[in-house]
Amino acid sequence: STVMEKILKRRSLQLRNQQQAWEESPEGQRMLEFRRSLPAYKEKQALLEAISRNQVVVVSGETGCGKTTQLPQYILESEIDAARGATCSIICTQPRRISAMAVSERVAAERGEKLGESVGYKVRLEGIKGRDTRLLFCTTGILLRRLLIDRNLKGVTHVIVDEIHERGMNEDFLLIVLKELLPRRPELRLVLMSATLNAELFSSYFHGAPMIHIPGFTYPVRSNFLENVLEITGHRLTPYNQIDDYGQEKSWKMQKQALRKRKSQIASAVEDALETADFREYGSRTRDSLSCWNPDSIGFNLIEAVLCHICRKERPGAILVFMTGWDDINSLKDQLLANPFLGDPSKVLLLACHGSMASSEQRLIFDKPEDGVRKIVLATNMAETSITINDVVFVVDCGKAKETSYDALNNTPCLLPTWISKASARQRRGRAGRVQPGECYHLYPRCVYDAFTDYQLPELLRTPLQSLCLQIKSLRLGSISDFLSRALQSPEPLSIQNAIEYLKVIGALDDKEELTVLGRYLSMLPVEPKLGKMLIYGAIFNCLDPILTVVAGLSVRDPFLTPFDKRDLADSAKSQFSCRDYSDHLALVRAYEGWKDAEREHSGYEYCWKNFLSAQTLKAIDSLRKQFIFLLKDTGLVDENFSTCNKWSRDENLIRAVICAGLYPGICSVVNKEKSIALKTMEDGQVMLYSNSVNGREARIPYPWLVFNEKVKVNSVFLRDSTAVSDTVLLLFGGNITQGGLDGHLKMLGGYLEFFMRPDLASTYLGLKRELDELLHN
Ligand code: ADP
Ligand code: MG
Repeated sequence: STVMEKILKRRSLQLRNQQQAWEESPEGQRMLEFRRSLPAYKEKQALLEAISRNQVVVVSGETGCGKTTQLPQYILESEIDAARGATCSIICTQPRRISAMAVSERVAAERGEKLGESVGYKVRLEGIKGRDTRLLFCTTGILLRRLLIDRNLKGVTHVIVDEIHERGMNEDFLLIVLKELLPRRPELRLVLMSATLNAELFSSYFHGAPMIHIPGFTYPVRSNFLENVLEITGHRLTPYNQIDDYGQEKSWKMQKQALRKRKSQIASAVEDALETADFREYGSRTRDSLSCWNPDSIGFNLIEAVLCHICRKERPGAILVFMTGWDDINSLKDQLLANPFLGDPSKVLLLACHGSMASSEQRLIFDKPEDGVRKIVLATNMAETSITINDVVFVVDCGKAKETSYDALNNTPCLLPTWISKASARQRRGRAGRVQPGECYHLYPRCVYDAFTDYQLPELLRTPLQSLCLQIKSLRLGSISDFLSRALQSPEPLSIQNAIEYLKVIGALDDKEELTVLGRYLSMLPVEPKLGKMLIYGAIFNCLDPILTVVAGLSVRDPFLTPFDKRDLADSAKSQFSCRDYSDHLALVRAYEGWKDAEREHSGYEYCWKNFLSAQTLKAIDSLRKQFIFLLKDTGLVDENFSTCNKWSRDENLIRAVICAGLYPGICSVVNKEKSIALKTMEDGQVMLYSNSVNGREARIPYPWLVFNEKVKVNSVFLRDSTAVSDTVLLLFGGNITQGGLDGHLKMLGGYLEFFMRPDLASTYLGLKRELDELLHN
């Protein structure tokens, strides 16, 4: 071991020399100068001292002050200076993969290195890290997975958890685990970093850990709420009256027509906005009722109008637009690219910034464009805190973000755009004042802002806990309820109980709350357990391709459009895809496959138009399918070249069975009456089908059961998409045959069979069981 020590010592000294050489080089000097101009630099000594004296330190400071890029680097540099460069190991977690990648690249550049030398990153399915990597940026999920195989984080000297103010589920979860790890690892140092001033909460969670605040500086940003924005766009913004901007090639008459159309579109959109909302009234209402003021319908045109105004009338500076999600961003991008009003296309650099973009695109976001070119970045709320684009002077804030929410009483999750919090709105606005005074356009009235909540509810308290429970079990953290009771803020017991029950019913946990084999595979797939189960069954039963489409469709949204005024046409277009097989999911598979064929012939859009399909959604489904394939390969369930997993992809009954495996216990019984069909679920009694379900248009359904993904309570309970299945399929694929053997399975189904008055099924089942038993014994 002394030889080893010597080698490490020598390596540490080498690293120190290397660092010094860089700092003395002209480029290194320039970089240091920039780094020293950041607010964090003034606190450097205080930070390092606090970290060396305390096991836990909480650091807060405005976004952009240098927490993420500087603090981990200060620690690394001081370790290298102390000749411990070869023995330290610093891990800094980020909530999103793109920030882990972008930040590591930046830090490496600041150190005059390439990625994979002393600085690296690791995100799911990707990473650059070398033998000498001492500072690793990774997603929170990656650190959680590491804890799975390395409970004590052996060899790690510092853990930095970034962006804790976001209160993401993974971060809250990680904090519980780390809190319990600290006593076992007295030398381990933990730093928590937050962009807002609510550091006390975290400090008291860690027994009064010291807090250090980095004072920051930002220029003032003027807020324009919708009232102002409309005045600006409606009165001073007049691109719609300026004819000279239309392309030269178009005839005068066409220009005028297009112009009139545009003008009336914008006018009516804004009118709509004003009509549907009596803004003053909303001030006194609760946050929920705000959702009836729907900016989505006017959003695009309004955003477009604001952008036009800035491009034409305002001083230079990049524009950052906050949107709700990937698909919105893409649609707006398409709309803007087709818009001649933004001016000379070569003078506009239109970029998207969201979790799943390519890294080459990422870099463009940070680069300053050439003089005279206006950079416009369309972003999700990830640009609120984890990414800093320096040259932003204008912010457009649509006021919404996609948020998962969960209603424990109805046991239903949803992912919907909802109003952001005051803290988020402030954060968004602040992005405009980094380099000079800025301007923010909020696309909602002042009184709507006043009704926002102060902070967003922590994710742990608003999402279904099924996936989290699987994680707790796979990390062997003991009883789920006990573990969650030690969280910063614990979820309701009812939510926890629902999650555990559900996992038992689908066969991921056994009676003693331990993971089954299925549960272990599910915990490896970062999707909802029911979707994970469908993917796993699709892979095992070799009918993966259609199942990929079904699962992607269920995770994105329905690509079948139902325009209000053309409902009937749209519904019958959809039922053409059903081919009388009584399944919305199979209809989706056919529609998707038809679209792929059409795409190959470059007629994708016409196909969508004719069949009332959303090309945008189909594209999203397409890209999600690819991600699922990666994930499945990662678990080892699918082999590299797909040799067998599509062998039965044309077998509709098998696909139906796999869909049933995933959606169970979402089942409903079907009784065909003379004039109608009676549908019943165990929890709700009588239920109905949505009219756009292919099954909703049938006079008879020649199957005894429907499985469904989602139900919605309006006046009565409505089922969204459904697939009809036979008795045998329900018996063999509903619930979990893997655990408790066939007897346990029968016991569980027993309740259903009794409830639905189908004792005959029990005997069918016993017959099947006898046959299977015989098979197994021979
Ligand atoms: P914080 O984590 O406190 O929000 P960061 O450490 O992310 O702050 O950023 C500090 C500063 O470093 C930013 O204000 C910006 O000027 C600069 N910076 C960060 N990332 C990049 C990058 N990829 N390219 C250029 N400058 C960057
Ligand atoms: Mg940061």
